[in-house]
Amino acid sequence: MIKAIVGANWGDEGKGKVTDVFAQQSDIVVRFQGGNNAGHTIINEYGKFALHMLPSGVFNPHITNVIGNGVALNVAGLMKEINQIKERGLNPNLMVSDRAQIVMSYHILFDTLEEARLANKQYGSTKSGIAPFYADKYAKIGFQVCELFDDVWLDEKIDRILAQKNALLIHLYQKEPITKQQILEELHGYRDQIAPYVHDTITFLHKAYHDGKTILLEGQLGALRDPDFGIYPYSTSSHTLAHFGAIGAGLPYPIEEVWAVTKAYSSAVGAGPFVAEIFDDEAHQLRIRGGDAGEYGATTGRPRRMGWFDVVATRFGCQVQGATHVVLTNLDVLSYLDNIPVVIGYDTPNYHQDRFPNITRIQQSKPILTTLPGWKTDISKITDYDLLPLAAKQYVDFIERQIGVKISLVSNGPHREQIMSRTSKL
Ligand code: GDP
Repeated sequence: MIKAIVGANWGDEGKGKVTDVFAQQSDIVVRFQGGNNAGHTIINEYGKFALHMLPSGVFNPHITNVIGNGVALNVAGLMKEINQIKERGLNPNLMVSDRAQIVMSYHILFDTLEEARLANKQYGSTKSGIAPFYADKYAKIGFQVCELFDDVWLDEKIDRILAQKNALLIHLYQKEPITKQQILEELHGYRDQIAPYVHDTITFLHKAYHDGKTILLEGQLGALRDPDFGIYPYSTSSHTLAHFGAIGAGLPYPIEEVWAVTKAYSSAVGAGPFVAEIFDDEAHQLRIRGGDAGEYGATTGRPRRMGWFDVVATRFGCQVQGATHVVLTNLDVLSYLDNIPVVIGYDTPNYHQDRFPNITRIQQSKPILTTLPGWKTDISKITDYDLLPLAAKQYVDFIERQIGVKISLVSNGPHREQIMSRTSKL
């Protein structure tokens, strides 16, 4: 059985926590896209972690964690995380696909140089090399993990790649060229570190599926960062949608449950249209209370952009994710408000109020807001959904009706046990 845990918004919805919770009743967790450009925060009995490369099943000894072929593999980042986990006495059971591709140091360099070149037109990249990495993958000049083990193959390929990279470095960015020796040494270093983890994960996952194992697909970022359906070009460079798992994990089977994770308010990192955005003190008050330690990027430490819950964006996010269930996280964060604004429509010239507009239209969209009563009491210690204040339950009911997907779980704190099941009204 395959279940997916994916973001309905711009990322940072709390997927890491939800995956950690679900992992307890699963057998395998697979990362199927993205790289170390976003972090999944997990707080459990081992401590607090921001996982960028490792699947969030690593805290459960019975789980096999898979880095699938669709991932942008940053070997140094992965090794750092493995060591952090080992320091806490855990030994992650990890497999890396022999078809995953490697993020090279020049991908990070090009990401940084390009953002600098774009100056005030930049995309707000985390500079983790993700866009140059995926560009190379589809231009067929990336390195698959399996290629690391064939020096003859590498020798020819490096020449071909360097000719192109050095032309860009010298002529576009006015930088020093890279040498073949540098690249070879880098690849050999990665080969030696990654070797113990490399597997034919496709065969492993197919067998596991047919043996009836429960497989979790752990998405990175959210639907609105998908390069096709999101706010392109302010998107990421890999598909953030559950059904991309068929490709990125190599599991072409129906996903029985797609759990779309959404926060009870909005946040986003980087540039791009964000209709629900609030500013100044209103944003500051929400930011300092959000998440486990305020809304600051797990990868960059940047203050996240803040907004109220966005029905239009979340309904669309659930739609493109093919969501069967929703997890609403961070409900506790809203407890300070007398009244809670919610974006229920977009005022977009000559366009539908209830549809998520394309990139050219969304630039002109203004939020249409309503306000719901707050509950003004700490709800973080409540363990039974029915015991929530009426206004909190009404807030959840309202959002469920608006997005049209059942909200089956409500999270009221960053810790593993702070999650309540709810009987949906849909
Ligand atoms: P992910 O990338 O989707 O896993 O999300 P992040 O880890 O980047 O951001 C989610 C933030 O919300 C983290 O700080 C989590 O610890 C925190 N978090 C998750 N669920 C809850 C919740 O229900 N309440 C609160 N207060 N924080 C939560």
